[in-house]
Amino acid sequence: MGRQQEPPTLDWEADKARRRRRALTRAGVAAAVGAVAVGWFTRPPPRPQPHEGRVLAVAGAAGGLSEAVVVYSPAYAPSFYGLEHLHPFDLRKYDKIARGLVADGLLDAADFFEAAAASEQQLERGHSPEYLESLTDPAVLAQALEAPVPGFLGEAAIGRRLLGPFAAAVGGTLLAAEHAAQGRLAINLGGGFHHARPDMGHGFCVYNDVAVAILALRAAGFSDNVLIVDTDAHQGDGSHAFFGDDPSVFSLSLHQDGIFPNPKLPGDLDVPLPGGSDDRTFLAALDRALSQVPADLQPGLVVHVSGSDVLQGDPLATLRITPQGMRSRDLAVARWTAEHRAGLLHVLAGGYGPRSAEAHQLSLTALLRGEWGLEPWLRAVRAVRARRGSAPRAPRGHQGGQGVELGQGQRWSSGLEARGAHASGAAPRRKGAKGAMGCWRPKRLCGTGPGRRPGGRV
Ligand SMILES: [Zn+2]
Repeated sequence: MGRQQEPPTLDWEADKARRRRRALTRAGVAAAVGAVAVGWFTRPPPRPQPHEGRVLAVAGAAGGLSEAVVVYSPAYAPSFYGLEHLHPFDLRKYDKIARGLVADGLLDAADFFEAAAASEQQLERGHSPEYLESLTDPAVLAQALEAPVPGFLGEAAIGRRLLGPFAAAVGGTLLAAEHAAQGRLAINLGGGFHHARPDMGHGFCVYNDVAVAILALRAAGFSDNVLIVDTDAHQGDGSHAFFGDDPSVFSLSLHQDGIFPNPKLPGDLDVPLPGGSDDRTFLAALDRALSQVPADLQPGLVVHVSGSDVLQGDPLATLRITPQGMRSRDLAVARWTAEHRAGLLHVLAGGYGPRSAEAHQLSLTALLRGEWGLEPWLRAVRAVRARRGSAPRAPRGHQGGQGVELGQGQRWSSGLEARGAHASGAAPRRKGAKGAMGCWRPKRLCGTGPGRRPGGRV
């Protein structure tokens, strides 16, 4: 006799139980994945963690701007339930630039200053309380951001996720402005919201960080004249609105004609350029504009609103500037500032094309190396030496572990020294010191090896 078969009904029962277990397992996995996804999308955005960075010695500086600071916070990046990753613009450019400067060995993580977000009181220096209050209304905010803002969002979500990154960047510009007012090159890796007016936001600008910073300096006693050089592809109508009637602030805008904002507000000097303008046209126009700044202005502070939407391929403009052209533009403004013995506040403004971060990094590298001071013949000599394989030089004057002697008797002091902001790892720049300039060429040509400093990663 063969072995007795189990009744078929028992198999059916077991199969049913197995299917039930499998369904339960799948549901559990799906629930876990869903919970992780919901947690990731709704995670709170980063908040600024204020801390002091290092004041750097600018090795190649000539004429002025011999010290530099870089201000940055991860909180500058918008964080809107993960939807920011679907945005066609590169909204992570600030982070890419900061990481790129570290990866290239130019800076290390401890060099960056990080500021607290601008408070309501600080914002009220530039904007009316009514306007600031109205920003919790999704319809008002949608107009400022030129993008839909869901009506169901509560005040807390709007404040934290939409207004928070702007306030963080304004805080960065406020801190950078304090340093620039002391004659330094002060770079904020964000800000430049130059379309925001006292009672109106538009063009993706909610708060005007530059105006708020200038007014804060004024309140703290800074009385020197100020020159705003706006080279973003769009006219700096917000700056014009703030300072049109203020003779102590000269507002210059070099921009593409016929694009946002429309209509434009007249400033102290407007230079509209046709779409399609290339490096040569743009740089010649900038030189001419700077030569037209009144000789008696003698600014103590220059603010460069340095948008990268001038780059060819930007989605919002049709200028044809190359990354090398943008670098030359930024060096030209720094050169003018150094020659006039003023401080320079450099903010990034618009530009969200695919090459934006790379172009800013190229430009900032040149600024932090003080390359505006290089004479053309010296460039040629260095180029020949580099081609012959001369030993590469250190990337900058900043070497860890040594203090920097700071000049005393600056025209204005914000009390930063009392807070220890000058406790620096920067080395004093010695005249003619070997290794001061580092590789002067564009980053790609320099390579990463010679300029890299051990342990310089974030
Ligand atoms: Zn722009």
